[in-house]
Amino acid sequence: MTWFRERLYDHWNQSFLVVRELYRSRDGLQDIVLFETPGFGRVLTLDGVVQVTTGDEFIYHEMLAHVPIYAHGKVRSACVVGGGDGGMLREILKHAGIARAVLVEIDGAVVEFCRQYLPDVSAGAFDDPRTEIVIADGIDYMRTTAERFDLIVVDSTDPIGPGGVLFTEAFYRDCARCLNPGGIVVNQNGVPFLQGEEVTDTWRRRRPHFADVGFYLAAVPTYVGGFMALGWASASTTARETGLDAIRARVAAAPVATRYYTPDIHRASFALPRYIHDLIPA
Ligand code: SAM
Repeated sequence: MTWFRERLYDHWNQSFLVVRELYRSRDGLQDIVLFETPGFGRVLTLDGVVQVTTGDEFIYHEMLAHVPIYAHGKVRSACVVGGGDGGMLREILKHAGIARAVLVEIDGAVVEFCRQYLPDVSAGAFDDPRTEIVIADGIDYMRTTAERFDLIVVDSTDPIGPGGVLFTEAFYRDCARCLNPGGIVVNQNGVPFLQGEEVTDTWRRRRPHFADVGFYLAAVPTYVGGFMALGWASASTTARETGLDAIRARVAAAPVATRYYTPDIHRASFALPRYIHDLIPA
């Protein structure tokens, strides 16, 4: 029996029973490994850290796409930074109101590889006429682009390796500049029980550039250690507070197929347990 042991924390880890290794590449920007498991389907790792599993990816992708889209109410343009597996694009493009979606991914090999070996994750999103794929470092793209977006989703690796720059104040400042009025930035912000400093650091680095900074939560089995924090930043001080009736009405008017997201989950995800709330500077 072969087990894959994730190397993310130096004091704790999760392991997957590997039924079959499907792909391994050590030649590119990041080490890419894909294997089949009994419980989570196909698992993609980059530099030894789990990025996506076909079993539970829907939770993560739905919560980073649909919460800001329904809270905003009129998203037409979106940018995904990272997200080379295409799952975030897939969820965003479910919304008929989206006219344009730009994917800014640093590693072209991830996109090509996921097209071939994880086609159900992107489900045609890379070839959607509304999609533009840019192979570039997200920090360079955000510093130099003249584009403006209603929504920016930072679907990055953890703040180690190439994803580190996507957790800096300079990047958040440039995201703020690239938003249309009322626009929203969301990101994967780690598992607070194990990576609590990511909540504190993100709040401090965003506060100077956005009127509203906060967090919401999702429980994703393979991002182990309890709730995962999803970061929220906007010039709008009202979008995060959009009430249940308004969210229900927007979902009823423009529904999309989901397996995790509901209007009740949307509202409830902003309720923070005290140990997470206490990570936010007073
Ligand atoms: N859901 C995943 C997680 O939290 O573990 C993230 C998955 S997604 C595949 C992460 C992507 O971010 C990878 O494809 C990686 O190549 C990309 N990435 C990392 N650093 C980046 C950067 N600076 N600019 C753009 N993309 C980046």
